[in-house]
Amino acid sequence: MTAPINTNLKEYDMTTNVTDAQAVAGASISPTAAALIAQEGVHAAHNYHPLEVVVASGDGAWVTDVAGHRYLDCLAAYSAVNFGHSNPVLLDAARVQLGRITLTSRAFYNDQLGPFVTALAKLAGKDMVLPMNTGAEAVESGIKVARAWGYRVKGVAPDLANIIVAAGNFHGRTTTIISFSDDQSARADFGPFTPGFRTVPYGDAAALEAAIDENTVAVLLEPIQGEAGIVVPPVAYLPAVREITTRLGVLFIADEIQSGLGRTGSTFACDLVGVVPDLYLLGKALGGGIVPVSAVVGNTDILGVLRPGEHGSTFGGNPLAAAVGLAVVNLLATGEYQQRATELGARLHAGLSALSGHGVLEVRGVGLWAGIDIDPVLASGRAVCEELLARGVLAKDTHGSTIRLAPPIVVSAEDVDWAVEQLRLVLADLTAAQ
Ligand SMILES: *Cc1c(COP(=O)(O)O)cnc(C)c1O
Repeated sequence: MTAPINTNLKEYDMTTNVTDAQAVAGASISPTAAALIAQEGVHAAHNYHPLEVVVASGDGAWVTDVAGHRYLDCLAAYSAVNFGHSNPVLLDAARVQLGRITLTSRAFYNDQLGPFVTALAKLAGKDMVLPMNTGAEAVESGIKVARAWGYRVKGVAPDLANIIVAAGNFHGRTTTIISFSDDQSARADFGPFTPGFRTVPYGDAAALEAAIDENTVAVLLEPIQGEAGIVVPPVAYLPAVREITTRLGVLFIADEIQSGLGRTGSTFACDLVGVVPDLYLLGKALGGGIVPVSAVVGNTDILGVLRPGEHGSTFGGNPLAAAVGLAVVNLLATGEYQQRATELGARLHAGLSALSGHGVLEVRGVGLWAGIDIDPVLASGRAVCEELLARGVLAKDTHGSTIRLAPPIVVSAEDVDWAVEQLRLVLADLTAAQ
């Protein structure tokens, strides 16, 4: 039996429960969609501002809304759906495990965690995995591990550890993580903040080296800054960071939660420049778009500092997550997805580069991951995404006039071309309307 999703929607009459802006936009969507949007508006906290499409199902790179309209998903849940919606291999792994056991807590061993951490450690070329759930938890865990390593191994005096981070970073939403964000909308009214972080410009290795002192335990970076608009640093940057951190005895922590696991055409974005960090932070696609799975991956000399009782999570390393995570690692171990992202990424970027000067100021990115700066005179990123939605393409703006395209890696070449064509048409329409 299907879930009765329409129950009680009548009371969410668009005319009484939504803002004028929602009602106007809602005029073009189905009554069911409008009522569902209104229901969220009343009973879900307003911490997001979604585009007005109500998705009911998904298959591969495509999703279908409650009225039966299909859309090409060019966000892929911020890269959490790298392997496509309803990926049959991942769904099978989940279904099998759902029928066995889903949660034991780590008070006991389960028969899925060992194989998962073994395979993930091998994929990353490291010894050990600390399994968690969300990306933010992996970041928090990496920070705790680095601090404990600093005090216990490096010999930093109690409570003096500092960690170097980059301007423009996005590492998640917890109070400690927003303490070193420079995005005011992520911080305002959420203080007081956690001390112990130093911000340096992204892409500037000299500034990073200058900020390091004897109490620095780690440098925490995104190898490519995702939420900042797919900002790729100069090619010499990450190798320089690796050289500096090695020379000065500081851990290099790479937040690959969005950049990792195939998106850029390699397993890790760090691979693209031949860099191996001390700790990888992974999340998003690690759960195959099915369950939240995140991890800190590193060698025993670092992750081994954690002792029983010092850190944990009730759901971290649960058998369902481990079964799905293992299936994800097995997909990546073949190299097929990485190769596909490389080839389709080249196609995407070739298509997008033709839009430069036609409403596009700049295109950045690598692999199947593009940040597109729309000429702000023409339209906001949000307005472009609304027009793309009307044409059947789901994309999301970031930082005003930037939009991001990151379809599932299972997307077809024809669909990539079609998405670029829809963007070209949207920009042409906006230009003509000026
Ligand atoms: C999404 C993201 C996070 C946070 O992950 P959540 O699962 O949303 O907590 C951290 N770092 C980067 C680079 C991300 O893109």
